[in-house]
Amino acid sequence: MTPRLTLVHLYPREMNIYGDTGNVVVLRRRLQWRELPVDVVPVSVGDPLPNDADILLGGGGQDAAQGEIGADFASRGAQLRAMADDGVVMLTICGSYQMLGHEFVTQEGRRIAGVGVLDVITRGQSQRLIGNNYVDTVDAGRLVGYENHSGLTELGSRVRPLGSTLPGRGNNGHDQTEGAVRDNVIGTYLHGPVLAKSPRFADDLLRRAYARRGVAVDLEPLDDSLADQAARVAVSRSR
Ligand code: GLN
Repeated sequence: MTPRLTLVHLYPREMNIYGDTGNVVVLRRRLQWRELPVDVVPVSVGDPLPNDADILLGGGGQDAAQGEIGADFASRGAQLRAMADDGVVMLTICGSYQMLGHEFVTQEGRRIAGVGVLDVITRGQSQRLIGNNYVDTVDAGRLVGYENHSGLTELGSRVRPLGSTLPGRGNNGHDQTEGAVRDNVIGTYLHGPVLAKSPRFADDLLRRAYARRGVAVDLEPLDDSLADQAARVAVSRSR
């Protein structure tokens, strides 16, 4: 029997900028289209974080939203680090990515503590990095999305970049890296939502989750022609 996957959606209200909740929708639909069982558990400030999460998703948010959830997020640090060590799949976008790192210091100098799951640090600055973007990765091919952030992220030695970007600014605008990865934990600046235009990446996350459960699931191919077309258009408008 194929195990039932539990998708945990972190802070759906506060951290859902530029449609990032769509990542949850895409994963759920790709499972449902294949008649594979799935539960989605929203987790807001104060809610318990399920211990049986297979995939955890977090979206972007304004600096203010990051401040609002900051203490709650930090209080979950030990559990999130244990989950990451245990191979739980995490896809975190922009603000959530920054907070999985060691710290985010806003451009006004306010420090929002991270949980240290990813060996990255982020500093806000005055210029915003905005535009359609694509990122070439080794594991999941080309990811297509949209970036809009003022935080600049530097990677430490315990993460590798998710990929590299030529058209976009990526992590920091100077080293062409985009996102960060360790084990099954991924952070990226790609909104869009990224999974809607990167179906291969979506299935890669599902495969990782099943593999962690010790199950090799043959994911039935889906018709991704619309997603691929949307990706091509976005790539042709990258900047
Ligand atoms: N506060 C962050 C930044 O601007 C996050 C932005 C976002 O999540 N889109 O760098």
